[in-house]
Amino acid sequence: MSSDARKQKAEHIRRLLETEGDAVAANTRGFNRGRYESVSNLDDYQQLREQARGIKEDAIERLPALIDQLTERVEANGGTVYIADDAADANRYIAEVCADREAERVVKSKSMTTEEIEVNDHLQERGVDVVETDLGEWVLQVADEAPSHIVAPAIHRSRESIADLFNAQFDPEEPLETAEELTAFARERLLDLIKGADVGMTGANFITADTGTIALVTSEGNARKTAVVPDTHVAVAGVEKVIPSVEALQPFIELIGRSGTGQDITSYISLFTPPTESPVVDFDDADTPITDGPVDRAFHLVLIDNGRLAMREDDTLRETLYCIRCSACSNTCANFQSVGGHAFGGETYSGGIATGWEAGIEGLDTAAEFNDLCTGCSRCVEACPVKIDIPWINTVVRDRINHGHDGQFEFLVDGLLPDAESGGPDLQKRLFGNVETLAKVGSAFAPVSNWVANSATAGAVLERVAGVDRRRALPAFQRETLVSWFEHRDTPPQNDPRRRVVLYPDVYTNHMLVERGKAVVRLLEALGAEVVVPRAPGAGRAPLSQGMIATARKKAERVTETLDPYLDDGYDVVVIEPSDLAMFRDDYDRLLSAGAFERLADNSYEVLEYVYGLLANGADGAALSDGGGRTVAYHSHCQQRTMGLHDYTVAVLEDRGYDVVTSDVECCGMAGSFGYKQQYYDLSMDVGEPLGEQLRAADAEFVLASGTSCTDQIGDLLGDDARHPVEVLAPPSQGRDR
Ligand code: SF4
Repeated sequence: MSSDARKQKAEHIRRLLETEGDAVAANTRGFNRGRYESVSNLDDYQQLREQARGIKEDAIERLPALIDQLTERVEANGGTVYIADDAADANRYIAEVCADREAERVVKSKSMTTEEIEVNDHLQERGVDVVETDLGEWVLQVADEAPSHIVAPAIHRSRESIADLFNAQFDPEEPLETAEELTAFARERLLDLIKGADVGMTGANFITADTGTIALVTSEGNARKTAVVPDTHVAVAGVEKVIPSVEALQPFIELIGRSGTGQDITSYISLFTPPTESPVVDFDDADTPITDGPVDRAFHLVLIDNGRLAMREDDTLRETLYCIRCSACSNTCANFQSVGGHAFGGETYSGGIATGWEAGIEGLDTAAEFNDLCTGCSRCVEACPVKIDIPWINTVVRDRINHGHDGQFEFLVDGLLPDAESGGPDLQKRLFGNVETLAKVGSAFAPVSNWVANSATAGAVLERVAGVDRRRALPAFQRETLVSWFEHRDTPPQNDPRRRVVLYPDVYTNHMLVERGKAVVRLLEALGAEVVVPRAPGAGRAPLSQGMIATARKKAERVTETLDPYLDDGYDVVVIEPSDLAMFRDDYDRLLSAGAFERLADNSYEVLEYVYGLLANGADGAALSDGGGRTVAYHSHCQQRTMGLHDYTVAVLEDRGYDVVTSDVECCGMAGSFGYKQQYYDLSMDVGEPLGEQLRAADAEFVLASGTSCTDQIGDLLGDDARHPVEVLAPPSQGRDR
């Protein structure tokens, strides 16, 4: 990405933060809170997720057979099925149906698939009036805007802005103001339009192959009216919506509303097996009983391929087809909460899973527009009702984008940076993906490297050439690394150690945060553990986050080569950086053989998780520093939360006499290198601001955080450094650290 493109992207994000940010934040955070509450009331939530996942895996595996079965069933019911290869094919068919019907007006209920094929434009160009009947979609149609959310399309608009829009557009006798007034106005107007429509077009949340039943899950009653008031119903859906049976609907109905909007059940669950057998109502003839109306109805099911069958053959994109479009991955995502789908989205789809949809349907160029907004924090994985590994889809697509891209300035880095990427990633990605090399050079030449890196000239060059935002201070490299200190220290071996620990020296601890590493060594030794700190390569988190999978895999292999001998000797692996532990416990599953992954995952621990274990098994906590009732504010790390490790740190701090105030903000906004990037600096700070507010309000003696990027971000938010919990828990050095 060029310097100009980065500036344009930054400007676009800034504008959205100002104009749409507040409404998006209020709505998505509300949905997300609702999800937590609603799923916590489900005893069998995890079983339902397993069940839903199993049904989708099976359905996509058997998709061609299920489509055949569905086609037979719909035709036996009296309807027609059309399998459209792409958007143009689908639009041509739908336009023919409208022409046969001599339709002047089509009413529609909400459907992302019809957004995808842009059927409204196609029909309107042919003189058909198309009216959206979902309130949010109608607002956008009136405003001529694109959806910013896959479930709540007008989420970026406040009530006030909708009132202004309606008052300006429709000039009602009395200005509209309240939500009730706006809704009543829309309902009345849309009802008239529905009554006079010739064709009703709906989407489908699920279609059952055994009965030809269409399930529509909606918050408004408009879809029912759309489907049955006109005598012609066209349902448009991606082929992935087909599931085997009506019974298979059950887990999805339980999960979809809870996951998306936090409702225990959505307002309307409509099951149609069209053509519907109810009479068509003539609204101009109020005297004739409804039962005497004609039952002459037509039904067309348009199943869209548009890239989906190729996605089914793609090992990574296939998982996207399991998506039930609930929006939980959008609502739980910190970046989405700040900026919404007009930045975090492509041609049609938005949020974390949009990368999979857009890459499969539109291509890599569209996915590349917003794919970097996924920081891989992984919170969405726990929120997804069908357990899709959304960050992995984003990483693989990022890797594909890198390699389909003519890397600018590659001649500067190819051969200089020791990654395994041939061509591909742009300079910004390669710089952040090769942070280990930079750290080695930085330490070797410290303190000169620090002086140079933080000079105004270097800051300007780094920003212009590589997009490193100059408002961020670069970390200070230490001349003596943790490993080098450990190798040269003069400490007698631990007699009869309680446990034997190999402390993994992550890049940041080893080269920059050496005092943090020394504190961990003191802490573990004070609790009776023998500690070794070997020379070890970076865990691969940095290249993986830039979509440099080959480089990350190489590092993973070298990490296991380094740690394997210690595991053979019965050592436990202790890790300070939560994101590196997430590599060992999760991401390495994708990068290493199953045996190598499981061995490392089973024997690796986050440092405070490990300390908790030592204390629980009899180690003497009195050897650690005493909090003496002092208040500390503690912010956990995204991946630490996902791994369920947050509580260990709090428990240890409380055990040692600290009064701990925790933040309920899930993300600090820095996300590794994300917040250092010029185009994302403002977004990063916006995401972090709620955390800054909570930490300021805590009025604590120290602010503590578990991740390096979290401490960096908190430093920038508060203007005061945060510490890692080990730095307040470890006993003083008594001079032996030097
Ligand atoms: S990926 Fe999962 S969480 Fe996201 S919209 Fe699809 S089903 Fe919902």
